[in-house]
Amino acid sequence: MTEKPPRVNPTVKCVVNTCNHYFPGDKCVAANIDILNQNVGDMSREASQTMCKSFSERSSIPNYLGSLDNKNWGGLVSALMPGQQITPTVTCVVNSCKYWDQGDVCIADTIAITGREAKECQQTDCETFEKRE
Ligand code: SF4
Ligand code: SF4
Repeated sequence: MTEKPPRVNPTVKCVVNTCNHYFPGDKCVAANIDILNQNVGDMSREASQTMCKSFSERSSIPNYLGSLDNKNWGGLVSALMPGQQITPTVTCVVNSCKYWDQGDVCIADTIAITGREAKECQQTDCETFEKRE
């Protein structure tokens, strides 16, 4: 029996400090993030038309335990150790991006999620998006 190749997955760097999954050092401690077209059904043509649907607004005090159903617990422990890299799995449906691949996989090495001070997922973007030619 041939073994399945490991799932391709980029490292996620995120600056959305208003999200429950944000961890200082531009880390995301969600177990998985979903990247979508901002307007469902529309094809993104630029980064601002994408969004991190897994954004979950936190209250005024940091709450790293928020959204308990989508938490990378091993990653959260690692995040407390300096120099440790943690990252969620990425599921992306933005098939107009050159990094998108079959199975809603992202083949970029690293992705940058932007939207500091965002109040809703529509204010976040996958800045790494590049339109497929
Ligand atoms: S906005 Fe998305 S990538 Fe950033 S911390 Fe929240 S869930 Fe993670
Ligand atoms: S770089 Fe492209 S394929 Fe990867 S998560 Fe961002 S929009 Fe999706």
